[in-house]
Amino acid sequence: DAGRLSGAVAFEKVTFSYDGRRKAVKNVSFSVKPGQTIALVGSTGSGKSTTLGLLHRVFDPEDGAVKIDGVDIREFTLLSLRRNIGVVFQEPMLFARTIEENLRIGNPDATDAEIARALELAQASEFVSRQSDGRATRIGERGRSLSGGERQRLSIARALLKNPPILVFDEATSALDATTERQIQKALKAATRGRTTFVIAHRLATVRNADHILVFDQGEIVESGSFETL
Ligand code: ATP
Ligand code: MG
Repeated sequence: DAGRLSGAVAFEKVTFSYDGRRKAVKNVSFSVKPGQTIALVGSTGSGKSTTLGLLHRVFDPEDGAVKIDGVDIREFTLLSLRRNIGVVFQEPMLFARTIEENLRIGNPDATDAEIARALELAQASEFVSRQSDGRATRIGERGRSLSGGERQRLSIARALLKNPPILVFDEATSALDATTERQIQKALKAATRGRTTFVIAHRLATVRNADHILVFDQGEIVESGSFETL
């Protein structure tokens, strides 16, 4: 069992191929200290999502190793690894249940006050309270009754409730209105506090707030550094 990890992440010469021929991730190495925010940028198909998939073991490297707190993640049980990682996808996994039930996935014992706080930090309290039954409102299949920005904020609230040491955030590429974009940035900022965060970034504001930026091209890291140095 991994227990609660502190969130130091290292990729050591990681290579991965989907088809056994072309490398989707090629010799990728980097290390991250607990609490840092790392942005992954690069053109479509450059290997960003695959890299983060290797972190929460959607697949394992063909070569090299991914380590957390100095331990190869293959040594942890999948369940205990994933307890340590919160994910916010572009299209968040929401279920045709109530908002509250969706939020409690990952932390069934959360108190009312904790839920209220997570919604507040995720900039979601207002739109949730505007729903017919508030938190008890049933949302449609895949959260279809909500906007993309609302779905992503609920997903951030869920990650906050889970309170993992590592967070993965795949930023929406779709055009968001300026207000929604500001709310998401604010929610993201609250969510990153005190944890190692990986963001697949499409927006300048997100990149600017990162401690470190990795630039991907054709599966490789071709540049890295801070916003100022790149
Ligand atoms: P985007 O910005 O479009 O999300 P990305 O940087 O996340 O791109 P990846 O999804 O990691 O890119 O893809 C890296 C390479 O692996 C691409 O060539 C892609 O076509 C390929 N690939 C991604 N997912 C799969 C899959 N499930 N099966 C086969 N090949 C895949
Ligand atoms: Mg991707």
